[in-house]
Amino acid sequence: DCIVYWMRMEDMRIRDNRALAHASAQAQKDGVPLLVLFVLSPQDYAAHDRGARRVDFTLRILENIKTELAKLDIPLYTTSRSPRTKIPSFIHDLLLQWNASHIFGNIEYEVDELRRDLSLCQIAKKHGKVACLFGHDKCILPPGDVRTKDGRGYTVYSPFLRSWAPLLEKANAHHLDELPLPTANNPSVRQHPVFANLFKTEVPREVKGFSLGPEERERISTFWHAEEDAAHEMLRRFLSTAARTTQFGAVDPLTAGAQDVDPTKKSRLAKYGDARDRMDADTTSRLSPYLSAGVISARACVREALKASGKKKLDVCRDTGVGRWIQELAWRDFYTHIVALFPRVSMGRPFQEKYAGVRWETNAAHLQAWKDGRTGVPVVDAAMRQANTMGWMHNRARMIAAMYLVKDLMIDWRLGEQYFMEVLIDGDLASNNGGWQWSASTGVDPAPYFRIFNPYTQSLKTDPGGEYIRHFVPELAKVRGAEVHNPPPALADKLGYPRPLVDHKEARNRAIRRYKNIGED
Ligand code: FAD
Repeated sequence: DCIVYWMRMEDMRIRDNRALAHASAQAQKDGVPLLVLFVLSPQDYAAHDRGARRVDFTLRILENIKTELAKLDIPLYTTSRSPRTKIPSFIHDLLLQWNASHIFGNIEYEVDELRRDLSLCQIAKKHGKVACLFGHDKCILPPGDVRTKDGRGYTVYSPFLRSWAPLLEKANAHHLDELPLPTANNPSVRQHPVFANLFKTEVPREVKGFSLGPEERERISTFWHAEEDAAHEMLRRFLSTAARTTQFGAVDPLTAGAQDVDPTKKSRLAKYGDARDRMDADTTSRLSPYLSAGVISARACVREALKASGKKKLDVCRDTGVGRWIQELAWRDFYTHIVALFPRVSMGRPFQEKYAGVRWETNAAHLQAWKDGRTGVPVVDAAMRQANTMGWMHNRARMIAAMYLVKDLMIDWRLGEQYFMEVLIDGDLASNNGGWQWSASTGVDPAPYFRIFNPYTQSLKTDPGGEYIRHFVPELAKVRGAEVHNPPPALADKLGYPRPLVDHKEARNRAIRRYKNIGED
């Protein structure tokens, strides 16, 4: 007999994990061992444009979790299955083989994942042997909890936040509390005729079709450690005055030492309201890869931020430091709620159906130049090369690069959304889709179609000294002054830097025309 916790790609942690805590409590109550299961699904990864970086990150996290769970005599069994339609019946067979009475999981809100879980529940119900228990854990407040007066979900962020913030305050007392760690199994489980073998299984080194070359694996794993401790240390550094991560380079929270002391004696959290849009400095938490894979809970982020603020009462909507940061976590909740309530956004449809008919350019050379960071617009190229190098981008960089693809190059936002999922280690359907549909003016609460970023003005505002560009676009490393934002043609030619693919003013007019006269131009 046993209890199973089914870990998935978005809840990969031992600390503060609701389904795991429930599974552990059930195992204690029944006096049976707790087992942890992870099923890799290459077909789902392909269908959801998951890139090799994210899959590799998943495997690295699993290796670490396996070691940590083994200290509690809890086995982690990782296996790979395709086709994905067979996963529910495969899991059910495994549960019968293990004689499991319950399986616990945290809900993933994308359509395919919901269907998969539902299918397992139906199979289990038919056989009547295993209880399936899936609950909310991804968001700070679960989808469905934040509603308008007439009981609907919000589709505009500001009123969502005004409703979310007081609910958070009300819920604070119990909602944000850290959940108990799983209790260790009785060590005799290591002698169990079936479960003993699970300790001997290994986490696969790679998933076929999603392998990283050794150089890339090394580079990405230097940027992003795959441990819960690393995520918590990054959070601590973001919240405290003592330490910061490096400006653009490797984030090494586990080994970086005293030289990282922030000379301004102000935490990044305290400066966040004013500084968050600056791409040339280390202004944000860089926790998105960890939040996206669930290595740290969003709950823990809010809990620790509130503690660090030292304030008894916080007006999340108005506060410019900690409150401003919590507002970003509310964006994450908002977009996840949208995916849960409006599944069409995870099916490649614009939220605003009227924009389904916008006419897009099909220029493969332009798309490739954008992916490679060779558009001839330095800030866009720096942004894309940051993504290609680190698997991560600053939020402003994402907005500028996305808006440029959609409005300047007039290329379908879904192609950009797909590329971000492939290269970003923090790829998350809800936030990525939300960000892209915002940029394409097709989403919930989007940028209006006629409000188009001028990438050169954005560059001057968010990277005034040009350090971000110089770092990621080495051709321009020696260009001094404002020319780095828009190098004159002769200088660009001399440095081997491309000329702009399009003229921004003309492209802007074209975009406005296409959006205004859908179906005509
Ligand atoms: P911080 O500023 O420290 O914010 C803390 C956390 O709040 C983030 O880690 C993230 O979980 C959440 N958050 C912050 N801003 C947003 C936002 N606008 N929307 C949703 N959540 C937010 N974020 C992802 O996690 N995965 C994605 O795939 C993703 N794709 C994006 C695509 C586009 C086109 C755009 C414009 C934004 C996208 N974002 C995505 C949101 C945002 O850019 C990143 O979450 C942020 O840059 C991560 O950096 P950070 O952890 O330092 O953020």
